[in-house]
Order: sequence, then structure tokens, then C-alpha cells
Amino acid sequence: MPQLKRQRTKTLTVKDNGRSADYVTPNFIYGCLGGCRDSYCYVMRYNHDKVFINENTEQILGRIDAHAGKLAWPKAPNQTDPTYYTYDIGCSTDIGLHWKHYDWEQVFTFFRDHPTAKATFATKYVNPKMLDFDPLGKVRIRFSLMPQNMSDLVEPKTSKIADRIAAIPHFIAAGYDVHVNFSPIIFCEGWLDDYRTLFEQLDAAITDPAHRAMVQAEAIMVTHNPWQHQRNLAAGMTESEALLWRPDIQEHKRSGYGSSAVRYRRDFKAQLCEEWLAVHDEVVPWNTVRYLF
Ligand code: SF4
Repeated sequence: MPQLKRQRTKTLTVKDNGRSADYVTPNFIYGCLGGCRDSYCYVMRYNHDKVFINENTEQILGRIDAHAGKLAWPKAPNQTDPTYYTYDIGCSTDIGLHWKHYDWEQVFTFFRDHPTAKATFATKYVNPKMLDFDPLGKVRIRFSLMPQNMSDLVEPKTSKIADRIAAIPHFIAAGYDVHVNFSPIIFCEGWLDDYRTLFEQLDAAITDPAHRAMVQAEAIMVTHNPWQHQRNLAAGMTESEALLWRPDIQEHKRSGYGSSAVRYRRDFKAQLCEEWLAVHDEVVPWNTVRYLF
């Protein structure tokens, strides 16, 4: 079991992003106890054994405030948000899961009250405790979705996909901005039929036109990593690794942060993206895909 370690982080850099958000904040928590830690989680490529809880929250928020204060206002609308500068606060943990380990209300309150900055994070956990907080639309939750049969294999012990979908209207009603995160997309036999079923689930659950206008999506094909693959095999994850580690259709790449990773071969990936998007757009044409890669 990973060790929980409380500390004051010295890594206080706000990083450029441009995909899930305009920027990524310094880590409030670095590490995760999520069910996907022995499968595809990219955080586990760098930090598997500990969960660092950074207690200098005020200092981190001060850095974000100073960063936001230097940006031109009003912001030019972009795919991350038409109005606010977006900051991903959960790139290295799962906030829904680690709610009790941090004063997230302090962080959410900072963004709720900030004139130009908005928080966003992806989660695989439905945490009803968050519904007690009204962020007035200044916190965006991105519920991660994948077909349930795949989720059972690669992200055991996370919230059921049907529960994540069912939670969407409740979080919107509570005051959250809600998107979905189709990530990671894992190719396997019958994958498009499985995604069709998933899109149909989403279509049946989100019926309010205002919700359909709000709930946008991001979609990311899986990547993996050689030493993560070996560690996962050693942890007994042979069934999921057979789907995640596919040298026959993957190629090596150097990731944006300079580390080694594999992804689907370029041409094959382009074909997968096209096929996935065709089914998506047929079943849930109201669900705008912000980006797919
Ligand atoms: S929930 Fe997210 S951060 Fe946590 S192990 Fe899974 S992928 Fe990693």
C-alpha cells in the first residue's frame, strides 16, 4: 500500500497546457490510490509508491493568483473555455477519491471567487460530498468514461460507468460545470460496438437541452510505458496488460514531458480516431468533442 506523506512542496510552477485546460497548477496532491494505478495511469510512471499531500495550499493558490493576474483580460475564447482561464487542479491525483485527504473546499472556494480563473479536473469517482459545495459554475468536473467491460479490467474499484453518467445532472444542479472525458480509449475486438453502447447510455441520461449544450468532451487514445508494463505484469495484471501493451500496433514516442511511452502507430491511430468519432457523432451529435488525439 502506498504511503501517504504530508509535506510542503517547493515545486510551485504553473505549467502551460492547452488541452484539458489552459494551464496546470502546482500539485495539491501528487500521487493516487485509484483503481487504475496498476494499469494505464501515467502518474504511476513517475510516482507509484507514495501519495504526497502538499500542505502549503495558501502558497500554491498565491502562485495561481499571481499567474492569472498577469494574463490579459478579457480572455480570447478557446476550446477550454469561452470566458475564463482554466487551470487543471487534478492532473496528478483524483480529487473525487482523495476528497478527505485535502481541504478541497478551500481550493474550490478560491476558484469560485476568482474573477478570471476557473478550476477543472477529471475524475473516475462519484463523490456525493462534493454536491454540498456550490462552485457557481467556476469548477468543471470531467467524468471519465469508457465501456464498462473495459473499465472492469483496467480500472477496478472505481465508480461504475453508469453511476458516473447518472451523476452528471446532479453535479450540474449543484452548480458545477460538467464535461466528459473519454480517456483512455483502448482498442480491442468489438471496441466500436462497446463505445456505441456507452454513447447510447450517455444519450439516454442527458436529455435536458441546457445540459446537452454544457456537457462537452475530450477524447484521448491510450499510451503506455515499458517499465510500467513490466511492473503491472509483476503485479499480476496480465489480462489488462494484454490490451494495453500491443507492440503489434503501437510505436515508441517521446512524451511531451520527455519520458518514454508507446502509442498506437500514427496511421492506425488516425484511423481509430476517425472510426470512433463517426460512431460518437452518429449517437451523440449534441456532445461537442473539444479535442481527440
Ligand atoms: S484515478 Fe487517475 S490519477 Fe488515480 S490512479 Fe487512476 S488514472 Fe491515476
